[in-house]
Amino acid sequence: MAARCSEIIAIMEALAPPELAVEWDNVGLMLGSPAAEVRRVLVCLDVTAPVAAEATARGANLIISHHPLFFRPLKALRFDEARGDLVRRLIQENIMVYSAHTNLDSADLGVSYHLAARLELEDIQVLRPTHQEKYIKLVTFIPEEHEKVVREALTRAGAGWIGNYSDCTFRVAGTGTFRPLAGTRPYIGQEGQVAEVKEYRLETIIPKARLKEVLPALFKAHPYEEVAYDLDPLANEGPAQGIGRIGVLSQAVSLEEFALQVKEHLGAARVNVVGDREHKVKKVAVCGGAGSDIMATARTNGADVLVTGDLKFHEAQAAASMGLAVIDAGHFATERIIVPALVTYLQEQLQEREVMVLASQKEQEPWHVF
Ligand SMILES: [Zn+2]
Repeated sequence: MAARCSEIIAIMEALAPPELAVEWDNVGLMLGSPAAEVRRVLVCLDVTAPVAAEATARGANLIISHHPLFFRPLKALRFDEARGDLVRRLIQENIMVYSAHTNLDSADLGVSYHLAARLELEDIQVLRPTHQEKYIKLVTFIPEEHEKVVREALTRAGAGWIGNYSDCTFRVAGTGTFRPLAGTRPYIGQEGQVAEVKEYRLETIIPKARLKEVLPALFKAHPYEEVAYDLDPLANEGPAQGIGRIGVLSQAVSLEEFALQVKEHLGAARVNVVGDREHKVKKVAVCGGAGSDIMATARTNGADVLVTGDLKFHEAQAAASMGLAVIDAGHFATERIIVPALVTYLQEQLQEREVMVLASQKEQEPWHVF
């Protein structure tokens, strides 16, 4: 069975909650309808004309991109301009677009995490925390024969995640009682009489931010007219989430040696380096994409070097003057690592559905190094 676009959105938002996006950003479903069916997904960094053509050629009707399809406010959609023509083609070909940008950068298993992991950093921590995950315990009572359907609806909507484990729930069997009063339309039992029903008490944990998806999913999947449920705020706080990561190399190496390792790990055509080539590096900060804003934080946190992309001339000068070594491996190479990671994640989440997830093969580093 194909998946609805809304289910794939829920899977994406469990990984990269939209609340993590910075305020100037634009994330979420950019084009299409949550109710539409999806059979094939194409994952990329940017929705360009070649990527749109690739989606058509490979039969994908949902593109998941890192950079938003619509970023600046749209004032006109002109088909004689590149962006307008791209949108026209996407609509004509029935291709939807969902984008996860700064929320995916900051997510637990997002861009900067994967960049740190690819560079084989150990003890990876958030460099600049912006959010602390808060949790809620949901308890609900489900007639026996509906337990599986309701449980699966809850976990699909984002309940039951603990670290890298999904579908975390607990249930015990018991007996529920209720008396339907005048004007009710009970699923079980008769008006005016106390009914006794074999039910499960099902409990699970929900990130607070996911409640707005989980409760409607509960009400939709549960057979009762009035669903009994409890929401308890939990004192246990989740991990910090935020911008960039910091970790350590298993052993210190020279800046030159590490720069060559970065180039190889990321498959980058070139790296530009600020700092003395003999400078020893062990503590490494990373930020995928354009990370010059995080230089001072990296320095304060004792990083020996920052790996990022898109450094401008004056930013490179500023790094040198604050004594921070920087390896600029380019915007594309420091972010492209998220594409195969997203494909793997979506495939795992959609393995019981007839949905194929593909990595774009058409997008490339726009820079050529001569
Ligand atoms: Zn980017």
